[in-house]
Amino acid sequence: MKIIEHLASANGKTLFSFEVLPPLKGENIESLYNIIDPLMEFKPPFIDVTYHREEYVFKDRGNGLLEKRSIRKRPGTVGICAAIMYRYKVDAVPHIICGGFNREETENALVDLDYLGIDNVLVLRGDPIRSEIYFKPEPDGHAYAIDLVKQVDAMNHGIYLEESIGDTHPTDFCIGIAGYPEKHFEAPNMKSDLHWLRKKVESGAEYLVTQMFYDNSKYFEFVKQVREAGIEVPIIPGLKPIATKKHLNLLPHRFNIDLPDDLVNEVNQCEDNKAVREVGIEWCIHQSRELMDAGVPVLHYYTMGKSDNVYRIARELF
Ligand code: FAD
Repeated sequence: MKIIEHLASANGKTLFSFEVLPPLKGENIESLYNIIDPLMEFKPPFIDVTYHREEYVFKDRGNGLLEKRSIRKRPGTVGICAAIMYRYKVDAVPHIICGGFNREETENALVDLDYLGIDNVLVLRGDPIRSEIYFKPEPDGHAYAIDLVKQVDAMNHGIYLEESIGDTHPTDFCIGIAGYPEKHFEAPNMKSDLHWLRKKVESGAEYLVTQMFYDNSKYFEFVKQVREAGIEVPIIPGLKPIATKKHLNLLPHRFNIDLPDDLVNEVNQCEDNKAVREVGIEWCIHQSRELMDAGVPVLHYYTMGKSDNVYRIARELF
């Protein structure tokens, strides 16, 4: 079922959903089931699965030379989506990215997803790989998420890359995209970011999921700006409970977000990460309640490898 159909059939009730990462290569899928199993109590209609492209590592050859190797630490997004649908009978939403794919590879990946009965895709550009400052598309790949949205939308209209293919089967993916309440880090300003957001919606995107934020006023202001820009699609807030002291620096660095003073002070006063986890849970419950009271369609949680804290939060709210 499509995300927008889930939202429509909720009749204004806030739904619970979450995002998981594929396990590190070499781990068993049971490690992922251990994260998901407890959360099924809260009846998520869908679960997102992130996509992780290759990274470069440098191996010391022992002769003063370094060997550059490309590795994918977390493969398996598509397989995991299929496994989730089979095991839990809920929709799985694979994240698909521009990075690392040319258009033909993207098309073939979408064919796989269609055959698997996957109804939704979250379409993203992907970040630059760690060794590069700027995002570099593959030769004949997409430079921006909007181009990937257009490719999925074209397939939804039965238009494949090879024009000579006749009598094509149109796919029917519901397309989600990312939104940034605190602006995407490369956008020169919010107006420009919203301009491209609107273009993605005009190109076929039907809902958006936000980057994490810790101050709800940023989400509410974002929703206001998005609506003023003429974008009407549902906006799903993404939340991640803070869990370690390291997050104080890591989250702003990696996700280009601000942490409110009060949260930073509370975390700094904690003696250990066990106490930080409690602060994170309380903060997230408070945020979630306020968002729920404001009538958000879904509360979408980033689990990032552990779900005990999301479980505690969901137990308070759902
Ligand atoms: P785009 O929409 O392409 O935007 C990137 C920047 O370019 C923005 O500043 C935008 O304003 C600007 N822009 C957009 N279109 C144009 C254009 N045509 N011309 C000029 N400028 C333009 N990354 C992963 O690798 N895997 C994941 O699974 C993943 N999941 C995510 C889930 C969520 C909910 C979010 C919020 C992010 C996720 N990301 C993931 C990270 C995402 O890939 C990065 O934030 C990336 O830097 C931007 O992706 P985007 O789809 O927003 O890009």
